[in-house]
Amino acid sequence: MAERLYYSDPFLRKFSARVAEIHELSRAGGQSVWRVALDRTAFYPTSGGQPHDLGILTATSRSGAVLEVPILAVEEDEHGEVWHHTDKPLLAGTEVSGEIDWTRRFDHMQQHSGQHLLSAVFERELHASTVSFHLGETSSTIDLDVESLSSHNIERVERIANEIIAEDRAVTMRNVSRSEAEALFSAGHLRKLPDREGTIRLIEIAGCDLNACGGTHVRSTGQIAGLLLRGIERSRHGVRVEFVCGLRAVTAARQDFAALTRIAGLISTHRADTPAMVEKLLHEAKTSAKTKQKLYEELANYHTARLLVEVWAKDGLRVVRRTFADRDADYIKLLASRLTSAAPHTVALLASTQQEPACAVLAHSGDLDFNAGQLFRESLAQFGLRGGGSATLAQGNVPQQYLAPLFDSIEATIRDVRAVVPNDPA
Ligand SMILES: [Zn+2]
Repeated sequence: MAERLYYSDPFLRKFSARVAEIHELSRAGGQSVWRVALDRTAFYPTSGGQPHDLGILTATSRSGAVLEVPILAVEEDEHGEVWHHTDKPLLAGTEVSGEIDWTRRFDHMQQHSGQHLLSAVFERELHASTVSFHLGETSSTIDLDVESLSSHNIERVERIANEIIAEDRAVTMRNVSRSEAEALFSAGHLRKLPDREGTIRLIEIAGCDLNACGGTHVRSTGQIAGLLLRGIERSRHGVRVEFVCGLRAVTAARQDFAALTRIAGLISTHRADTPAMVEKLLHEAKTSAKTKQKLYEELANYHTARLLVEVWAKDGLRVVRRTFADRDADYIKLLASRLTSAAPHTVALLASTQQEPACAVLAHSGDLDFNAGQLFRESLAQFGLRGGGSATLAQGNVPQQYLAPLFDSIEATIRDVRAVVPNDPA
């Protein structure tokens, strides 16, 4: 079993080791992935909510040839062995030197230590216990067993956590026996008692938190370098709190600032005034939409009157067939319903070509003996298209190239039906 060097020195970046075991893990497209066990390792395997390290193993042959083997992943198995995944094999017994990707690891240590601190402050201030932790690519989350969090409490916890960061309190590690851990837990000093037997590793933030953990942590709270609470949302366990520490907090704040600056520029206002300005613009947009609807209705009335003069009934049937490039789908639907309620024996066959595909509408005045929805659906099916509607109004999206043949087909069918209806009063 590998000696885990990060237990005693989480700041160890380079180490030497010997390959203890190697297996082929998978093979795809001629490329194998190997899993390598070392006699000792500083690589952290995915566990306890903290993702694995990355880095490189280097082997030097007797002739001086150097083989660099990147680490793709690090996992631990159920027996506690640490496996380093690589795409190059290394013979068992080979001496290697390992170097971990320090930027990635230190970032993980900041987020992970920040989680200890944040969970402790939530527990102390609000009696909100952490039930799970996830360290993600850009932000991390903890789930708290509470119903809700007020914005006042969110800001208060964030401020207290940052005060403890500024106090630069020591973060220390020690090993205790199971019975010592149980005594600490019973006395209320230990936040959680793990299931495991044997030696238990405790992480302490001076005067703030004592917790059992096998992860990697910073030396003092100052190295967490700031903690920013982000989204708060309901979760299965209660409330999920998203947070970022260290440079991630700077990156997040920088991105928010850039987004806010862009929004302020687009609406020509100062950043601080954006909420009020956006509210004002939304109100104006709502009013404009109402005005537009009213104007559409008035326009549709005039338009209907004009079209009924322009298009005469033929054989007792009036077919108003028009295509509009400058009217939207809402307008032609409105116009179709106005036309067919304004005059008997009237069919509206309208399209808006403002967009591709066009929007086509078929409506009739309700006193004609065909079903608009059915006819429209069957006619569209000839072109492999779909659409439909009620007995008197149907609509669908039609690529513009099919519009003319589709309307020809519908109009011919309607006129055929009319031709065989005898004694029509129209
Ligand atoms: Zn930890």
